[in-house]
Amino acid sequence: MSAQLIDGRGIAGQIRTEVRAEVDRWTAQGHRPPYLAVVLVGDNPASASYVRGKIRASQEAGIMGDTLAFGADVPESELLETVSRLGRDKSVDGILVQLPLPAHIRPDRIIGAVNPDKDVDGLNTINAGRLVTGRAGFLPCTPAGIVELLTRSDIPTCGQHTVILGRSNLVGKPLANLMLRKGLDATVTICHSRTRNLKALARSADIVVAAIGRACFVTEDMVKPGAAVIDVGINRVEDPSRTRGYRLAGDVDFEAVRHKAAHLTPVPGGVGPMTIAMLLKNTLLAAQRHTGL
Ligand code: NAP
Repeated sequence: MSAQLIDGRGIAGQIRTEVRAEVDRWTAQGHRPPYLAVVLVGDNPASASYVRGKIRASQEAGIMGDTLAFGADVPESELLETVSRLGRDKSVDGILVQLPLPAHIRPDRIIGAVNPDKDVDGLNTINAGRLVTGRAGFLPCTPAGIVELLTRSDIPTCGQHTVILGRSNLVGKPLANLMLRKGLDATVTICHSRTRNLKALARSADIVVAAIGRACFVTEDMVKPGAAVIDVGINRVEDPSRTRGYRLAGDVDFEAVRHKAAHLTPVPGGVGPMTIAMLLKNTLLAAQRHTGL
């Protein structure tokens, strides 16, 4: 058996085209374009590159955006003030604080200060609560992107045993809550570093989602024949044959697992592109909610 690869780049492209069409329809009705404000702190090159990618993708979708950049030594109080001001600014629809933040800044405080109705990353506790209780809010982009990958690839979730490896607030926990929702109706198990029998649990899954941050952690013997395997991990693996000295690898041993699974996401080109696509979708949704639609 060779797994059907789930084309995250292609599906994300479709969503971006759909968002662009909806933004065009929205502005043609006389509304101003949606506006995304991105807060970037410090000079981490990876963060700067992610932010550039998000702003570029927004512009391509007809969403206006700007980056508010701060030095690594910015006081926490100044960031809190900025995020609160953006929350009151009627010309801003979405606010995204690029993580990670420098060590002296408490991410919970900053994310907690984001206006929940502009929290397009879906990470503040109000939106986490809305997700758990099934109310309308903003879904975190990576878990929402994983669900889109499954549904647009016609992979059934109802009653399917879904084993999620990783319990972070960013991926594992919100994804578990999303998969449990009525309509998706999965049966969910979450595993973490203290889980016993992790291999056996993974092997019993119809859907395995790996979000732990360890290259090639999920081996062939952890996958049931015919399972769907979603690889969230982005890991740098040393590779002297590459000019940059490393390559990107997921949490799944891709070459081995592709002979066992029925569906598999590649890294890169799987979950990654979906995260940005869902951010655009959330920003459009925020703009529409702000005008009462
Ligand atoms: P995280 O906050 O570091 O959480 C990792 C989770 O994996 C924790 O729950 C941890 O368990 C668990 N874990 C670590 N080692 C384990 C082991 N040996 N056995 C079982 N569980 C283990 O990571 P994250 O933010 O969720 O990200 C996970 C991965 O996804 C990273 O590679 C990250 O780069 C990637 N990611 C990708 C995207 C995307 O857009 N594609 C978005 C977000 C994250 P404990 O809780 O017990 O410590």
